[in-house]
Amino acid sequence: MKVGELVHELRVDRGYDPGEIISTWTEKDLLDGKVVDAWVIIFRTRGCYWAHASGCSMCGYVNDTAVEVGDADLAHQLTSVLPRHQGQPMVKVYTSGNFFDDHELSPDSRRSILRDLGDRCDKVVVETLSHMVRREQLEDAMGHVERLEVAFGLESTNERVLRYAVNKMWGLREHARAAAMVRDVGGTVKTYLLVKPPFLTEREAIEDAVRSGHEADPHSDTISFNPVNVQRDTLVDHLFKRRQYRPPWLWSVVEVLERTRDLKAHVKSHPTAGGLRRGAHNCGTCDRRVIDAATSGPSSPGKAFIHLEGSAPGF
Ligand code: SF4
Repeated sequence: MKVGELVHELRVDRGYDPGEIISTWTEKDLLDGKVVDAWVIIFRTRGCYWAHASGCSMCGYVNDTAVEVGDADLAHQLTSVLPRHQGQPMVKVYTSGNFFDDHELSPDSRRSILRDLGDRCDKVVVETLSHMVRREQLEDAMGHVERLEVAFGLESTNERVLRYAVNKMWGLREHARAAAMVRDVGGTVKTYLLVKPPFLTEREAIEDAVRSGHEADPHSDTISFNPVNVQRDTLVDHLFKRRQYRPPWLWSVVEVLERTRDLKAHVKSHPTAGGLRRGAHNCGTCDRRVIDAATSGPSSPGKAFIHLEGSAPGF
């Protein structure tokens, strides 16, 4: 059986109210070299088209999506979440999918979200697959916000890792093309890279992340290393339950950050469920100390920082 078929087979679809957002919270992030409050909103949509067709081995976000979500549902989600803005200067908008997929988010809904959040926040961050974004969409988006950052889940620059460990068919070439377009219209680029996709040893995972960071650097303003966390009903969860997958050691994340200090992009890491069994963790003795040491002093641009969060949707 191929990786993509197994990912698809292990998925559990659930029903949700299409008028309700998935989640919202506030976390710390960097804006112009300062640590600020960043508002995170996860809108419920029909979800990532790739997750429906096949899906990435570590991704459980599709489990939070509703089958069909119309413009009226999205308008309701937006209206209900806007009063929860508390002055955060940055907002990160996720959809458990692709912000620039017209089938997931219509141009009208996209505009409303950008306009209403752009009115309230200095910087809006959205996420999409690199091959989904078109220049006219970006130009349109720039008309509604002061500053736009587009985040791409590149995961690795190694084609074999992408194909056989992550089950993603798009790599550095597509990323570079999309990143150039975003920068061309005046936006900035955030690149997500994985630390320890399945089927890699700890050493291979470190080397893959370090190499990917260097290769993605010219096409990124920020690089965020995401240690894989075990989300329910994913291929990674299947392997984890059979003791065939262990999330990365925190020491591995520290080594990746140490060895990517020379990058031009801002480098950071927010290990979801850090210190817990399903997230990046050590043996238990020093987890808290590593986390505390790593979270102190994330203030200067270009300096790597690691910030631990307790939980996230899909976990
Ligand atoms: S990781 Fe991104 S591209 Fe992959 S299935 Fe999940 S939402 Fe889709």
